[in-house]
Amino acid sequence: MKICVVGSGYVGLVTGACLADSGNQVICVDNDKDKIRQLSNGSVPIHEPGLTELVQQNLKRGRLHFTCDLKEAVNRSLICFIAVGTPSAPDGSADLSAVMAVAEQIAKYMPDYRIIATKSTVPVGTCRRLQSLIASITHIQFDYVSNPEFLKEGAAVEDFQSPDRIIVGTDNPAVREIFRQLYSPFMRRNNRILFMDPLSAEMTKYAANAMLATRISFMNEIATLCEAVGADVELVRQGVGSDHRIGGSFLFPGVGFGGSCFPKDLRALVHTGRQHGLDMLIASAVQQVNQMQHHRFSQKVIDYFAGRAGATVAVWGLTFKAKTDDIRESPAIYCIRRFMQAGLLVRAYDPAGIDATRMELDDQVCIVSDGYEALDGADALVVLTDWQEFRNPDLEMVSKRLKKRVIFDGRNLYDPLIMRKAGFEYYCVGRPAVTQPGGQVK
Ligand code: NAD
Repeated sequence: MKICVVGSGYVGLVTGACLADSGNQVICVDNDKDKIRQLSNGSVPIHEPGLTELVQQNLKRGRLHFTCDLKEAVNRSLICFIAVGTPSAPDGSADLSAVMAVAEQIAKYMPDYRIIATKSTVPVGTCRRLQSLIASITHIQFDYVSNPEFLKEGAAVEDFQSPDRIIVGTDNPAVREIFRQLYSPFMRRNNRILFMDPLSAEMTKYAANAMLATRISFMNEIATLCEAVGADVELVRQGVGSDHRIGGSFLFPGVGFGGSCFPKDLRALVHTGRQHGLDMLIASAVQQVNQMQHHRFSQKVIDYFAGRAGATVAVWGLTFKAKTDDIRESPAIYCIRRFMQAGLLVRAYDPAGIDATRMELDDQVCIVSDGYEALDGADALVVLTDWQEFRNPDLEMVSKRLKKRVIFDGRNLYDPLIMRKAGFEYYCVGRPAVTQPGGQVK
């Protein structure tokens, strides 16, 4: 099939590369000239496991192309995917200006029948707005499909190629068949393609993200209560998650969720509710608990250093989660800002988020290229992202390079008993802390 994907970010680029890899002719479009230049040379500007290889192979085989020329891309494609960003507007709604602008241009450029499909996360009802916008610009026939994307950053290629499900929102049976064929290479073991109307497809994406975020906030709230009563949330998590009706995913307590999806999608869901006279009580509480979680964890560190302005903390982890370079709404960036406001100095390290953080924080933080180097002269280590390489550090080296053996673990990566034996003061989330070096786990 001939396809164009407009927006070559985390979603658009993965979609384009995976669809090219399954034999389609794909043109990825972006209005960022520099990005298109890099991608045309096989250089992938984002950190996503397996993506560079996929882009390079498909460029070489001539199935994947990159351009800023939307007109040419629309001309050559039957299906035009829209995968541009939908960030939060100041009132919490999803800012649809990029989606609308792209839809308008597609409508202007399409020479004959096209299928226009949104991969971007757009609030329920956007399908109607887009359809009437396109119909107001062109008399040429088109079909509109809501095809929300569920991939996770850090495992995006794998998720796209082995999806839990594909949601296709269209009322036209002929378009269903085209999408069934398009996604059939990824459905070889089970058919996991769900067809529905576009409104339900749009709603499904928000409901899924809100449900996942709810599980995290719920467990974080339980963790806070565990701290108050002296229970261990890691044992509780295992006990709860082993109920097959509940399952173990998205129950990890920590410093709270971030990223480019959950926070903004919750805001948009609450806003959509408000537009319909509904208070989205659960979604609002999930946001509130999450903000409190960021605050509470950073406050633990700030309180520990009260009266010691100028103390230095080493931070491990800047991205909102492991295996990505994405720092959008990262709890780590939030915590670092608070540390600096409280007069603490920060030395930070991350395996993939250094460049983005330098841009975000304008070089206010000392960022180093090695985790152990971050510890030199620091009064404590604060772990904020669950990167694999942080899970089993050389504790002797950590002891030697830190000024004092103190660890604040915002991801519960370590065992308090091991920390106690190694002589650390150890503070984590919802579990007994080791408050005295070599002392009891309390
Ligand atoms: P992104 O910011 O990484 O990428 C968006 C791209 O669109 C950028 O490269 C930007 O330059 C380009 N762009 C913006 N306006 C354009 C225009 N007018 N013409 C051409 N290109 C334009 O965003 P993303 O993370 O890929 O997210 C895209 C959408 O997918 C959002 O709605 C998001 O909510 C949704 N989504 C994201 C994820 C995720 O994990 N990132 C997962 C599922 C769904």
